[in-house]
Amino acid sequence: MTVAAPVTDTVDFVAGDGMPLNLKRVRGPKPARKGPVLLIPGAGVRAALFRPPEPVTVVDALLDDGWDVWLENWRASIDVPRNEWNLDQAAFYDHPRAVRKIRELTGADTVKAVVHCQGSSSFMLAVTAGLLPEVDNIVANSMSLHPVVPPWSRFKLSWLVPVVAPLLRYLDTRWEEPGHPSPNLVARALVAVVHASHHECENSSCRMISFTYGSGRPGLWSHENLSEATHDWLRNEFADVPMSFFRQMARSVRAGRLVPTGQFAVLPPDLLDHPPRTDARIALLTGDENRCFLPLSQHATLAYLRRHRPAGQQSVQVLPGYGHLDMFLGRYAARDVFGYILEQLNA
Ligand SMILES: [Zn+2]
Repeated sequence: MTVAAPVTDTVDFVAGDGMPLNLKRVRGPKPARKGPVLLIPGAGVRAALFRPPEPVTVVDALLDDGWDVWLENWRASIDVPRNEWNLDQAAFYDHPRAVRKIRELTGADTVKAVVHCQGSSSFMLAVTAGLLPEVDNIVANSMSLHPVVPPWSRFKLSWLVPVVAPLLRYLDTRWEEPGHPSPNLVARALVAVVHASHHECENSSCRMISFTYGSGRPGLWSHENLSEATHDWLRNEFADVPMSFFRQMARSVRAGRLVPTGQFAVLPPDLLDHPPRTDARIALLTGDENRCFLPLSQHATLAYLRRHRPAGQQSVQVLPGYGHLDMFLGRYAARDVFGYILEQLNA
């Protein structure tokens, strides 16, 4: 007997400032008897990041458990036109419209969410500001409201970003992959430094990703946790990320918490001095080997949530042997991680 492959529909929606974005709705062979779950990936990737070439992805696990699965290509996605975004714009313009679109099409009163990295930080800003009252259950991976990074990342954000930002508006982890030449001397110099200092594998994108987003070799996963197929697949799943984002992250890392730009009244720079405007159940997740955002990040967000909300509405789980993105891409993630995510969504 063959099992029908999931079918993916593209659902366009328009962000609050008119930017055209889209959702991918994935339907499996089983009817979705549970409500909608929105999955939001990080920066400089696309919605399909949740679907590496593994036998069971988190999308498969959710479909099998009866969920209606939606993946968001927000403004940081490499599948939408390149733009110099910040987290506030995503929180204010993108995620509320994505949730509204899902509710319109499904008739659901509430939406659950599994969010990762900058998909998580921008979503959690929106949640904290009270822009997503319809979201009642969130699983947030790696970082939520309090970015705490290793010393090397702090150095890059404090010293390299100010030097590089005036010369390069974007970093692209595909530079030097076939068909993606470095655009100028500064980019070529960066690639040369990465190639000279990262010898952990032969995959140029993997090495550039480590330099761009983390500390360590590699920075976002351990090679032991990735299959060869997924390690190779990654080459085409990461691309450019604007310096506008790194500037905001540098300010936030210095402050020990996300600092909105002040562009929107509902997202003031001191947003986290105030209680979060949400009743959602929030499960914070990370790996003990996370070298992109240290596990302290999630513990700091837990402490903030606990100060303002009843016990039991939030939790943190640190999985041993996992880092930042192998939580979703790892060859054993179906065994080690997805069960926990389902448990939280079903709670
Ligand atoms: Zn590698």
